[in-house]
Amino acid sequence: MQQFKCYVDGVFEEGSARFESLDPASGKVWAMMPRASASDVDRAVKAANRAFLSPEWADLNATRRGKLLARLADLIEEHSGQLAELETRDTGKIIRETSAQIAYVADYYRYYAGLADKIEGAHLPIDKPDMDVWLRREPVGVVAAIVPWNSQLFLAAVKLGPALAAGCTVVLKASEDGPAPLLKFAEIIHQAGFPAGVVNIVTGFGADCGQALTQHPDVHHIAFTGGPETARHIVRNSAENLATTSLELGGKSPFIVFDDADIESAANAQVSGIFAAAGQSCVAGSRLLIAKGIKDRFLARLKEKAEKITIGLPDDMGTEVGPLCTQRQLDHIRTIVGKSCEQGARLVTGGVALERPGFYYAPTILDCSEVPEAASVTNELFGPVLSVLSFETEEEALRLANGTAFGLAAGVFTQNLTRAHRMIRKLQAGVVWVNTYRAVSPIAAFGGYGLSGHGREGGLQAALDYTTTKTVWLRTSDEPIHDPFVMR
Ligand code: NAD
Repeated sequence: MQQFKCYVDGVFEEGSARFESLDPASGKVWAMMPRASASDVDRAVKAANRAFLSPEWADLNATRRGKLLARLADLIEEHSGQLAELETRDTGKIIRETSAQIAYVADYYRYYAGLADKIEGAHLPIDKPDMDVWLRREPVGVVAAIVPWNSQLFLAAVKLGPALAAGCTVVLKASEDGPAPLLKFAEIIHQAGFPAGVVNIVTGFGADCGQALTQHPDVHHIAFTGGPETARHIVRNSAENLATTSLELGGKSPFIVFDDADIESAANAQVSGIFAAAGQSCVAGSRLLIAKGIKDRFLARLKEKAEKITIGLPDDMGTEVGPLCTQRQLDHIRTIVGKSCEQGARLVTGGVALERPGFYYAPTILDCSEVPEAASVTNELFGPVLSVLSFETEEEALRLANGTAFGLAAGVFTQNLTRAHRMIRKLQAGVVWVNTYRAVSPIAAFGGYGLSGHGREGGLQAALDYTTTKTVWLRTSDEPIHDPFVMR
């Protein structure tokens, strides 16, 4: 059985306790993980704090930090096969997706490598003749980075890249579900040559490890990706250390297809939008809003495509949909689909867990046009389940699209340019895709409105979010200060 270790202060350690990790394709234990306790977390944060103040890191100039990030990117590419295999084994995400995503993860580090020495302060045109005033951009301090199980290497990259470029140090908490790829990634961080304590990687459960990390008095910023309920705990925890937060949360994203859309493209994008990663994607286009005039035709096409999907073992390159990550996730999906059918949703296809080992659920389409309040329409499932609603007018499409507390992403399929612009303006979502879906890039900011969180990942702004400013006042006059009670 494989054994994994935590990485604290440049040292690989067993952790004070261990827990079992299951292979989602078989449901069987395949590895043992280190379970970090509050005291392990305390050591990791203290190491990050020491490293933050150490000359090895604090005095390293930004260009050199960029070089370390570039080396990290090269090493990720070199080890991408191994990292992809581990992510597939421990989370069930199919190898086709993990291989492509990890290759792109290297590009995220490369983008922030280039950005490190372009994070600039400012000189202020101050309103006093004998003063020189400028803003220094300084790293915010120790960052607690917390990720969920899906796409852990990617979700870690969008935090570590900008945080390290800005000069912060990090304690990264991998999810208790499928932490293997991030624990392996610690070896690559070590090899890249970051000074001890600059990046620490632990895993463990929310209630002990996550709680201890987010309340720790030496943490200055919390970068969190996960569900809104956990985010509420984290924001409460941050009342202890008053750390700033960035929150990348869930979604119930609308995928809107107008009757003038290219039907084949829209259907393929919808299949990818909801069934890729077995629907365990924050941006899953999980609510199809379809124009009434093309509803039957579009649903027939989708059903045909959904039923042709190759379901199989995640490490098989031919597999298109693999298992869910956990039994808990499978149970959650079963419950919500069951409830929606009781409420009157019509099953177009799927709606069952598969009769095979592991945590598999069939690609599912639920027509909820008659029951827009169905549980599958209002709850994030994080699984391969599409809920369908229909509309007659553009206004109705917008009302349905924005009728959720979430606001992560939205997709619009139309050939009408003016309509596309109207929709872009009025959709309440942090990302709008027009005639495409699920595209991301290190250059483009990503994040949500409303219950989908705040703060942005990707792009220049993300690096600035890991900085604070120091205002420097320098008096240039040689005249003595005469009056102590009048400051100018
Ligand atoms: P989760 O919120 O249950 O867990 C996420 C992480 O938080 C885990 O590492 C967990 O151990 C930790 N955690 C749990 N309780 C904690 C506490 N009290 N204090 C500190 N940390 C704690 O999320 P999940 O179920 O693992 O993941 C699915 C969710 O993540 C979905 O809602 C999904 O939409 C969201 N997600 C969002 C994005 C995005 O970029 N917006 C990306 C991927 C996933």
